[in-house]
Amino acid sequence: AEERLRQSQKMEAVGQLTGGLAHDFNNLLTAISVGLELLELRIDQRRYDDVGRYLEMAQSSASRATALTQRLLAFSRRQTLAPTPVVADALVRGMLDIISRTLGPSIAIATQLDSDPWSVLVDVPQMENALLNLCINARDAMPEGGPLTISAANVTLQGEAAAALDTPPGDYVRLAVKDAGTGMEAAVIEKVFEPFFTTKPIGQGTGLGLSMIYGFTRQSGGQVRIDSQVGQGTTVELYLPRFIGETAANAVQETEQDAPAT
Ligand code: ADP
Repeated sequence: AEERLRQSQKMEAVGQLTGGLAHDFNNLLTAISVGLELLELRIDQRRYDDVGRYLEMAQSSASRATALTQRLLAFSRRQTLAPTPVVADALVRGMLDIISRTLGPSIAIATQLDSDPWSVLVDVPQMENALLNLCINARDAMPEGGPLTISAANVTLQGEAAAALDTPPGDYVRLAVKDAGTGMEAAVIEKVFEPFFTTKPIGQGTGLGLSMIYGFTRQSGGQVRIDSQVGQGTTVELYLPRFIGETAANAVQETEQDAPAT
């Protein structure tokens, strides 16, 4: 029964996804056709004064449609994960440069990383994408700028803590992005994982960020938690199961140790 429920929830998400896609796409195609029709009219009339404006309208709508399909492709690609063992802290460190360049100087980034970090088994590009998306959401919630904290911590969930997260007891890496932004109303929190749910102006938000993050985390065996207070800020936490085994970093160390001294 649980499997059937999960299946029907999945179908519902797919329905929302295709419905939302059809709607957004239709709007963009309409803008392109109208732009081209007006262009044709002006060419017939040999009036070239606002030709540039109509061309621009068709072009910008076309590029937005391209951006939309790219996001959708990324969304459907979450079916084909290629899990690799990584140390969460190393992944965060490797992303700091691109994150700070993406967010700009008004966001002060701090990190809290464990000194003896555990590994997780994840699709690395998807996890990088998830982290970047969380940081972009944090920046969008702080239009005047402010502090953002990225943390990765080793946590052991037992008893109530595991039950509250609806996840089996055990070792996890908690990757969290914390902002001091607008926060979210309870009604917004309820909907954030739905594909295409966004409160951002048209053209700025796709509403796919958190639904992709949710899909990625669940498929990696983890869980997502949101803690948000209106006017105070938001913390989004990804709990990813600890991976015990050889990681790429360990493998490199061992080869170095095994290598004959020169
Ligand atoms: P998008 O960012 O394109 O809107 P998301 O799925 O990432 O799509 O987010 C959905 C909505 O959740 C946002 O439009 C916003 O209302 C809310 N949200 C997400 N992250 C935050 C945050 N850190 N602070 C406040 N609101 C947020």
